[in-house]
Amino acid sequence: MRFYRSQRLIRQDLQAHIYSQSLLDNVRNLKSLCNPETKFCAVIKANAYGHGISETVNILKKADVDFFAVASIYEAIHILDLIKKQSILILEPINSTYSPDQVMICAKKGLHCVLSSLEDLNFISKILVTSKHVLKVHVNIESGMGRNGLDPEIASELIAKIDQSPNVTLAGVYTHLSTADEEDLSYAYEQLEKFNDFLKDNTIASRENVIIHAANSAATIKIPQSHFDMVRCGIAMYGYYSRPMSNPPLDLQPVMKLQTPIVKIKKIAAGLPVSYGRSFITERDTTVAIIPIGYADGYWRSFSNRAKMKIGEKVVPVIGRVCMDQLLIDVTDVPDASVGQMVTVIDNDQKSPCGAYALAELAGTICYEIPICVQAHVNRIVH
Ligand SMILES: *Cc1c(COP(=O)(O)O)cnc(C)c1O
Repeated sequence: MRFYRSQRLIRQDLQAHIYSQSLLDNVRNLKSLCNPETKFCAVIKANAYGHGISETVNILKKADVDFFAVASIYEAIHILDLIKKQSILILEPINSTYSPDQVMICAKKGLHCVLSSLEDLNFISKILVTSKHVLKVHVNIESGMGRNGLDPEIASELIAKIDQSPNVTLAGVYTHLSTADEEDLSYAYEQLEKFNDFLKDNTIASRENVIIHAANSAATIKIPQSHFDMVRCGIAMYGYYSRPMSNPPLDLQPVMKLQTPIVKIKKIAAGLPVSYGRSFITERDTTVAIIPIGYADGYWRSFSNRAKMKIGEKVVPVIGRVCMDQLLIDVTDVPDASVGQMVTVIDNDQKSPCGAYALAELAGTICYEIPICVQAHVNRIVH
């Protein structure tokens, strides 16, 4: 199997600043909520939540991180050569769309895979049977998330079969909580109870080398009894709570700041339309600045006429429709605005009018989706 490095387009003028120290501090802060021996799994799926998968791995590879969790084998292979001391967990269950080469790579390179059926166990066993390699697998227990977990009886059966398979070994048992970010944690506790029942019924805790894990960011922060042997943190590592918290028990610092320069400044007289659809009509003689970012870069069209940006500490409104790759801001109240000056599009401050919380609120989504939408061609500049 051959892996091609594609020639990627990078737009140097679209600058996603990635602050290493904030990322490392967030990891340290999250770890401070856990027992010292609890492993830390850094979730880096979705291009590290938009922060750049290679950049993020390069920052974290020397940190006190035990695992990287990715969505697919493709991401796993992409980061394989970057890391030495950490393991990789592929969250998507291994399945029969994998080529024999891919299964072999997983086993050979010690990638941790999720196994979710007897058929898939047979599939990988057949591929590995002639080799000396042993594939490490994790079994996902359905406790109420309702996605790809296995019902406890089937999971027990699967684990028994794994134990009889020479080329497969049980490396982890886990579950995923669907409401840990909510105020009311009663359902999360119910899920944990089901998970604990499974662990007890199958004497999982007494097994050596089986990592038990359940906590995402919200559970890591709010539910210590969900930590088990390892926590899996995504959003909090990047500096945001799953949803804004009023009295957070730790300080998180957003890791990304997205900026782009003003490329043109012009004056528009009062009473004139701005951008597609004439959705904005100037109420006064207006100085507008054009910046070269739009919905093609990950800045939502639904921010049209609603979002704010920052020039220095001055807050300016987005006016008119956000276009595919440009948009307009009203800089009438920033008389010293000039071509080349940087505009903050997504701020690295939870409370900022252009932080991910504020933008998520405008878009009717969760803060995850704001940095994640920042496209791969946006330049990641690591500080
Ligand atoms: C994405 C994901 C996480 C991380 O969730 P956050 O809320 O971002 O911390 C943890 N576990 C699994 C299985 C996931 O898919």
